[in-house]
Amino acid sequence: RETGMQGFVPLFADFEAFYTRNLYMRIRDCWNRPISSVPGSHFDVLERATDDYNWNFRMTGRKIPLLNLGSYNYLGFAQNEGPCADAAAQAIREYGVASASSRTELGTSELHVKLEKLVAEFLGKEDAVVVGMGFATNSTIIPILCGKGSLVISDELNHASLVLGCRLSGASIQVFKHNDIEALERLLKRAVVEGQPRTHRPWKKIVIVVEGIYSMEGSIFRLPELIALKKKYKAYLWLDEAHSVGALGAHGRGVTEFHNVDPADVDIMMGTFTKSFGSAGGYCAGSKEIINHMRTHAHSSFHATSMSAPVAQQIISSMTVIMGRDGTDDGQRRIAQLADNARFFRTELKKMGFIVYGNDASPIVPLMIFQASKIAAFSRECLKRGVGIVVVGFPATPIITSRARFCLSASHTREDLEKALAVISEVGNLLGMKVSQKTPSRD
Ligand code: PMP
Repeated sequence: RETGMQGFVPLFADFEAFYTRNLYMRIRDCWNRPISSVPGSHFDVLERATDDYNWNFRMTGRKIPLLNLGSYNYLGFAQNEGPCADAAAQAIREYGVASASSRTELGTSELHVKLEKLVAEFLGKEDAVVVGMGFATNSTIIPILCGKGSLVISDELNHASLVLGCRLSGASIQVFKHNDIEALERLLKRAVVEGQPRTHRPWKKIVIVVEGIYSMEGSIFRLPELIALKKKYKAYLWLDEAHSVGALGAHGRGVTEFHNVDPADVDIMMGTFTKSFGSAGGYCAGSKEIINHMRTHAHSSFHATSMSAPVAQQIISSMTVIMGRDGTDDGQRRIAQLADNARFFRTELKKMGFIVYGNDASPIVPLMIFQASKIAAFSRECLKRGVGIVVVGFPATPIITSRARFCLSASHTREDLEKALAVISEVGNLLGMKVSQKTPSRD
């Protein structure tokens, strides 16, 4: 598209032309409402003044109260009252909101030191480094572990931050079918000359990159089989636990605990604090040697301003509760409640005749809509009935497997979930989404 000057191409031109972007103009309708409260089990969104699909934030001033099924607030720590919120507020008074500079300059506070020690202890690793953003943890740290001459073997559904990190690294990348151990082994077999010592292999190193729980599928990686392959083929493992840390395992220690795998068998345990901990930022846990290498080389540690004090304090407080070190059973109660809520919600949706993806233990529950054209309507109809949800399509998923993605929380009551199920059932009938139903005819 040309505007004005002959031959002048707008800066965004290559990106806006693709037809799915135009589809997104319409789908934006679902999200284009600012939130005006804490994103807890319930939240308020602002009513729009016009039905404009662009980023138009003209509001009427009216708040729409919704039940929240869209936040990653797995353990219910996203709150503005109680001991964790009080401690974060106290941290602002003590340290302020700003950080002095990057971690390698003057930006390391005593809270970072305390937090890194706690993360390492929680996960059973020697050491840990924390970073101001989860996305940057993947995208800037993978490139300092492997590069030209290395091979990355990556699950096809890995998160965009992992994909970006792998691409930025300059390593060769091979992709295997999601959670398919046999496909992974075929790649590993081809990549190594079996029986040869590590130094004689065609690749300097081989790094396998996977997630614990997949955020669009609700699937849990087959970790024990992966560990066996990693050992057999002498590869390294980068495990992203953004959605599994806190949310999975009897004590919230994630996918290693869930599968009873020794954390020592995972080279890099990566995760984020935006989900189970109700805060912000990311971490990597591993051996002392490797974590020190990250501290001094990662762009997100070296060149980026460090994590803010109240953010760090919120993580310390919530992790202390999860570990039971606050002297209560609150952490265990939250973990059990989340597991119970997730199982109940998933089972009920299946009973109603919906197609639901993922593992029964996963707090992420994708409800399949398939047709991209229906996802905006699904979201809008739920919103009209007081339920706030997230719908996902291309490029987060293939366009033909568009879906609604519910995130359960320990803060949801049984009454909340029953209300949500009644709404989803009604909207599912309206849009012909249950497998026992025919799609309504167009005329
Ligand atoms: N890894 C995975 C698997 C994710 O789903 C996300 C985002 N939800 C990230 C990393 C990035 O984390 P953050 O949003 O905390 O920056």
